[in-house]
Amino acid sequence: MNVRDSEHMIAELNKKEPYELTQNLSEADLIIINTCSVREKPVSKLFSEIGVFRKHKKDGAKIGVTGCTASHLGRDIIKRAPVVDFVLGARNVSKLPNVIDKKHAVEIDLDYDDSTYSFGEYRTNPLKAMVNISMGCDKSCTYCIVPATRGEEVSIPTDLIINEIEKAVNSGAKEVMLLGQNVNNYGKYFSSDQEKCNFTQLLRKVSQIDGLERIRFTSPHPLHMDDEFLEEFAYNPKICKQIHIPLQSGSSKILKEMKRGYTKEWFLNRCAKVRELCPEATISTDIIVGFPNESDEDFEDTMDVLEQVRFEQLFSFKYSPRPLTQAATYENQIPNDVASARLTRLQKRHTQIVDEIMNSQMGKIHKVYFDELKSGGKVSGRSDDGKLFFVKGSEELLGQILPVRVTKVSRGALDGEVV
Ligand code: SAH
Ligand code: SF4
Repeated sequence: MNVRDSEHMIAELNKKEPYELTQNLSEADLIIINTCSVREKPVSKLFSEIGVFRKHKKDGAKIGVTGCTASHLGRDIIKRAPVVDFVLGARNVSKLPNVIDKKHAVEIDLDYDDSTYSFGEYRTNPLKAMVNISMGCDKSCTYCIVPATRGEEVSIPTDLIINEIEKAVNSGAKEVMLLGQNVNNYGKYFSSDQEKCNFTQLLRKVSQIDGLERIRFTSPHPLHMDDEFLEEFAYNPKICKQIHIPLQSGSSKILKEMKRGYTKEWFLNRCAKVRELCPEATISTDIIVGFPNESDEDFEDTMDVLEQVRFEQLFSFKYSPRPLTQAATYENQIPNDVASARLTRLQKRHTQIVDEIMNSQMGKIHKVYFDELKSGGKVSGRSDDGKLFFVKGSEELLGQILPVRVTKVSRGALDGEVV
């Protein structure tokens, strides 16, 4: 989401006057730090980054802080680091052209109307389009700061989404990634009158776009994974067979304390349904270890879900207490060494599972969409089920979807040859 927000910022700046991106700090007239605040680490990194930029930036260059930490800390960022010229919250991207010339401007409100969601066109990679379908979040998971920084959930009107995807397809994109905190809650809250459309219906509409070949989305919420949605996922040939199902914890007791709204059994049942309807699909997940009150037994439940589902990809984190969240006030915070040991055990076991999965790929054929030129005469792309491939080749492969046989296996990626 932050990557897409950054693209929106570039598009907004370009509406005002042409800007060029640079990797060279001493050349930049404007430096924007687009922040995350989901865990504490990126927040503390922000101030050290500002220090580095202050030291090495060109005279007169402006520094802006945007994104979730901007929403959360607001004017305090300028108080702590007066070198910062402006602060712009995650929901205020369209105000960027107004704030860059105002010294110490702070815009962090959480309002939304559809007019604030119409950006210029800018895509880092024109072959793949990221498209927001909703903003904010209507849940209140007790560990999570996102509802406080990105505001109430609102769905973007269906026709805006379809128009945006059509434009991207006309500019060369064959793949779209639909973005939202709970994509499969789409259609619950529109800011203005519009025909009802839930996520499954949206997927059907998107898949009718001529020239679009692949649809991905992130993140769906396990709670809203009804059979109709999973059947659409399994049987719609344009939907890539890769699904993120964020577990967070395998213990029903901890899930309740997290206010996730589902149990271990529901989660396992939904994953089993995916495996049954679509055995070729890969499942990824997010797991938090060391949530307050997590006992050894609770953690064993998480390990048990890992064993049963055998996630192809895992994003795992140590619980990080966040301001503005309920769980930060809970008693029984877990000592750091206990949480670290759990994280290590979880990641080690997952690494073994991934090695087993990847080793079984040798010689298999996948359809790969080539989207990036790499060094060393290679081109990279992803298979339908999300595996990263490297193939010898050049520009002419870009934008093509071709069958590729796996010739070499490693943990994070596969080498292959076009067949
Ligand atoms: N809407 C998505 C999650 C967005 S935040 C969902 O519900 O799945 C991305 C991930 O960061 C979460 O899935 C969670 O695993 C992790 N996360 C969020 N808050 C956290 C915290 N306080 N400590 C550690 N990890 C956290
Ligand atoms: Fe955070 Fe929960 Fe909303 Fe995801 S669903 S963004 S974890 S509050």
